[in-house]
Amino acid sequence: MGTFRTLTVSGFLTVVLAAVDLPIAFTTHLNSRMTGRTDHALTSSVRDAANARLLKPVQPGSVTMRKFPYPYRAMLAIASDADGVTFRKFILIHRYLNTFERTSMGKGLGLDIADSFFFFVGTDRPGAIDTHNTPWQDQMSYFYRLSTNDLRDARAIVHFSRVGWIDSLHGLGDFSMIDQNITLFERRYAETALRALRENRLRYTVWINHGNRSNVGNFGNPESTYQQGDQKQSPYYIADLIVRSGVQYIWTRRDSEFGLKSMLYPITLRDGVKRWGFYRYTDDGYDPWGDLLWNWNPMKLAKQLSPDHLRMIETRHLYSIIAQHLGGNDMEIPIYGANLLALINLAHAYREGRILVARTSRLLQYNEVQQWLHYTVRYTGVHADIDIDQIRDPVLGWRHPTLDDVRGITFYSSSPRQTRLLLNGHSVPRSRLQYNHADYTGSPSVSIPWWPESTLDGSLQPGFASDAMDTSQNEPGNVKPFRRVPNRRGIQIKPPIWTWREDQL
Ligand SMILES: [Zn+2]
Repeated sequence: MGTFRTLTVSGFLTVVLAAVDLPIAFTTHLNSRMTGRTDHALTSSVRDAANARLLKPVQPGSVTMRKFPYPYRAMLAIASDADGVTFRKFILIHRYLNTFERTSMGKGLGLDIADSFFFFVGTDRPGAIDTHNTPWQDQMSYFYRLSTNDLRDARAIVHFSRVGWIDSLHGLGDFSMIDQNITLFERRYAETALRALRENRLRYTVWINHGNRSNVGNFGNPESTYQQGDQKQSPYYIADLIVRSGVQYIWTRRDSEFGLKSMLYPITLRDGVKRWGFYRYTDDGYDPWGDLLWNWNPMKLAKQLSPDHLRMIETRHLYSIIAQHLGGNDMEIPIYGANLLALINLAHAYREGRILVARTSRLLQYNEVQQWLHYTVRYTGVHADIDIDQIRDPVLGWRHPTLDDVRGITFYSSSPRQTRLLLNGHSVPRSRLQYNHADYTGSPSVSIPWWPESTLDGSLQPGFASDAMDTSQNEPGNVKPFRRVPNRRGIQIKPPIWTWREDQL
């Protein structure tokens, strides 16, 4: 990130690079690690032909922006909420989703999937969230319950936010009470959370409202009668602090669309501040009796990620963010059987360059930037110069983009090698660009590369341990018997349960 940001100050170098503009032997810059595809590498036998084709003058009018980063046709995020998650569940799930390690669910998928987290837990909900009889009050959270001093999973949350397994705020925590007319929420929790963000130099752009009517700090839905987080006169007013912390995208309501052209819609908070609202696929509408058909329970994951759904976003070139509670189930890790197959199918769609699976914050940032990017194209006879100067965002305001802001942005061009990119007036060096073969439209393109893939096992890196890790919870006495689930052929499959230990932690 740091080196990209220095681009504008190294203007001298970039101008020199641009001015030299020598014909270069063709080497593909497509990061094969990023797409998992190696078939783009050109062999020397076709190099000359490729050079001749790619160095021909840019056809005037041929430069247009592609909707998604090359080579993808759609983009999808799995936004899993913090409800019912323990540190142990979190590790089990994300080692499978995010790494290539061997796990109890099989070889990891290496996908970019991040969750939300809680700062505080102020709920009186009875019952347990796992097979260790962990109470709801001990969900994974930054602070110990409602303490503003005692930490619980702070170190792990900071660590995994940096690793990229956490990227969203789930409100400021779980304040759901059995009696929804009472609340333990106070504004001072927002002040404490903000201090923690500053101390750890963390910034979350995504805010996901949590829970029942006791969560009076929620905000963003003007029709809500209980939300007071954006009402200046309320003692629960916190939107000023949350917006100041860097929140740009707010999830406020249910939605039954799996795929959409854009995930964003403008909202004006009741204190007058504008932010983007975003959609998440949470349900399939209502049944004939008027009950909502929620599908964000982990046992509905396969239904959410059905082959038909994936095909639909691919052919119509749509975004999708599915809401989930992957750690919400009290007994079993939900990744087995049909859910496991659905995730493997999604990983294939990603590896084959069809659907870009990205954490929610990255998908939303890309969506916003791609939608509001302002650029001009100048055809100079041989070259085309694409000058990207602003993100003309009507909600968050106009701003000059950094290279990190425009990651993944792709332009079709009849001659990508003769197409130059300028960012805020500075030439982007060729080494920072990625030149792409023709995609399904028949047009080649040039891209600013997407974020590098990160599949390292974050749980092996130092500093991950939970502050509240209590190894005595691993006593085998807490293990409940497997519930056997028959598959279509009637074969009994043992679902994995939360007590499975993979590593000596
Ligand atoms: Zn929640």
